[in-house]
Amino acid sequence: MALRTVADGVRLGALVPGELLNTVVLTGPDGDVVVDAGLPWSGRRLAALLRGRHVVEHAVTHAHGDHVGASAWLCRQTGAPLAMGTADADLFEGGRLDTHAGALGRVVLAPLARERRRVDRRLAEGDRVAGFAVLAVPGHSPGTLALWREEDRVLVVGDGPVNVSSDPAAPRWLPLPRGLHDDPAGADAARRRLAGLRPSLVVGLHGRPVAAPDAWARAAGAR
Ligand SMILES: [Zn+2]
Repeated sequence: MALRTVADGVRLGALVPGELLNTVVLTGPDGDVVVDAGLPWSGRRLAALLRGRHVVEHAVTHAHGDHVGASAWLCRQTGAPLAMGTADADLFEGGRLDTHAGALGRVVLAPLARERRRVDRRLAEGDRVAGFAVLAVPGHSPGTLALWREEDRVLVVGDGPVNVSSDPAAPRWLPLPRGLHDDPAGADAARRRLAGLRPSLVVGLHGRPVAAPDAWARAAGAR
C-alpha cells in the first residue's frame, strides 16, 4: 500500500488497516513534512510509505503514544528535525506523556511514547508548516495542534471525530471514550473552534477523510 493523495499536496498513509491510524505527508514549498509517526512499531510501514521522498520536517499534532511512537526513529532515519506544540514538546523531551484524563489512555497509550529525542521547533498559533497555518487547540493534550489551509479549506486534525466510512461525503463516527482527552472540556471547546471553520475537507490522523462540512461540524461541535 502506498500513500494516497487526498488533496493538493496532501497524502494519507494508513499505519493500521482501515485508516484508523495514519500518517499524513504535506508537500510544501521546501519539501515533504511528515505529520505524526504512529506506534513504536510503525517504522517499517513508514519506511515503505516514504521511500524515495525527501523529508524536510517531522511535525506532530500531539504527543500521545499512538502519534509519536516512531517519531524518534523517523527523525533518525531521515535526518529531519522534529516540530510540535510547545507544551507537548516540553513533556516529550523528558516528562511524562500520560496526558489522558482516563485510565485507558494512561495505561495503554502513554507507554507507547517510550523513545524520546530533542524537539527542534516549538510550534505555536500562526506558525507555518508546509503551507498550512498552525492552530493551537489544546484539550486533547496540552499542546495539540491542527493545521489549516485557508485557500482550499483543508484541515488536518490529530484527534477526532473519527470517521469509519470510506465515503467522504457520508461519514460514520466511531465513538471514543472522553477519558482519552487530557482535558475533556478543553477538547470540546477546541473542536467547536475547528467546527466553526467549516472545512471542505478534514484529513484526520485517525479515520478516513471527511468532505461533508455540515456533518463534520455537527459531530465536532456536538461534544
Ligand atoms: Zn491518537
